[in-house]
Amino acid sequence: MTLQDQEILKKQSGLQLANKIKYLGIWIAAKNNRLLELNYMRKWKEIKKDLEEWKNLKISLLGRIATVKMSVLPKMLYLFRNIPIIRNNQLFNNWYKDIRKFIWNNKKPRIKLSTMLTPKERGGLDLPDLKLYHEACALDWIRDWVNLKKVKILSLEGYNLRRGWHGYLWHDKHKIERNFGNHFVRSALLRIWIKYKRFFHEKTPLWLSPLEANQRRELGWSSWPTYKEVLNWSNTKEGQPEIKKLEEIQINYKNVSWFHYYQLKESFNVDKKVGFNSSNEFWDITLQRNKKVITILYNKLVEWATEKEVTKESMLKWSRDLNRPILINEWEELWNKKIKYCRATDLKENWIKTIHRWYLTPKKIATMYKNTDNKCWRCREQVGSYIHMWWSCKKVKKFWSTINLECRKILKINLECKPDHYLLGLYNIYEKENKVEAKNKENLDKIYT
Ligand SMILES: [Zn+2]
Repeated sequence: MTLQDQEILKKQSGLQLANKIKYLGIWIAAKNNRLLELNYMRKWKEIKKDLEEWKNLKISLLGRIATVKMSVLPKMLYLFRNIPIIRNNQLFNNWYKDIRKFIWNNKKPRIKLSTMLTPKERGGLDLPDLKLYHEACALDWIRDWVNLKKVKILSLEGYNLRRGWHGYLWHDKHKIERNFGNHFVRSALLRIWIKYKRFFHEKTPLWLSPLEANQRRELGWSSWPTYKEVLNWSNTKEGQPEIKKLEEIQINYKNVSWFHYYQLKESFNVDKKVGFNSSNEFWDITLQRNKKVITILYNKLVEWATEKEVTKESMLKWSRDLNRPILINEWEELWNKKIKYCRATDLKENWIKTIHRWYLTPKKIATMYKNTDNKCWRCREQVGSYIHMWWSCKKVKKFWSTINLECRKILKINLECKPDHYLLGLYNIYEKENKVEAKNKENLDKIYT
């Protein structure tokens, strides 16, 4: 509508025309391309202001992560769920920049962002990954396209499409029909789906309905036979199912005629070249769920995204310092079990800082600033590397041997004086004594800070 038309309408109807309205917390304007600016940009401005204000509060590292989780994430999640329309990464990068500034109080980050975003069970800090949350919400929306249940919404979203939803989801029809991408929400969602669909399905999925894929518009049915319903797995030839007889399909789908049956067969012959998924896989199971879908999807996406993050720099450095390979199950024990021995967050944080080698050594500081000494400030003799500062310096060693002596007395065990035990809490020999050992480690931390 042009401005002139708006004026005429105003006069004739006597109504005030607003150029945007707010509906259930979402700003809606006449043009969809303003959605991003009206909602995401505005909301982030508010969040950024809050973060600025909180930055100088005395909050611990874990507290800051929890703040992001409890106050930033829900606000963004609301938008993600309702308008998953973000198509560029730049936006997410900008947001992380602001979050990082808050978490590290404008100083240089001491732990890599990818480590921060990794779940706790895998040695990360569980900072919510906004981008993956957005993708999880988009995939939740895609579930409607796959399930084909919400007929009204689907016809609204796809009013100008020539094929069925399944055609775009599996047969790449969007490549032929450029029209698909003209829709703001549609194009953003499809982009995310394409990124993940090969993770979900290597072979043709059973939820696919070849009839819907090709002629949703022409037939206008409301229910569609899927491969799951038309395939017969009892006589598999070379692992391939057969297609059921028409009569069998017609029991549930009376609309299917001989003509449709031939079309079905034709699609089947094409799709079987790729093969069919024979079991229920992650995506099939997610399709059936009603609750906690976003959480489940998010966890899966994080798992995939951090798969390559298994070995971290800090882990390699610890192996080098302890002069032995530290096995992955030892690390897992640290991340999952031992960290839970104590509830005090400051002690937990100490441990996390140790694991991630947070402490800035004289050696590191000397490489950052010229004219600073890289020698240990205790003995003033050797280079202040991480292991020297915490373990091998002769002054620190004295301290540890006293501790070790005490530990031996209290626990009545022959404990070697090794950094494995005292710095990382790696101690697997006597499972029973683990707890006592950990308790002592906590006390050690107390003394040490
Ligand atoms: Zn020293």
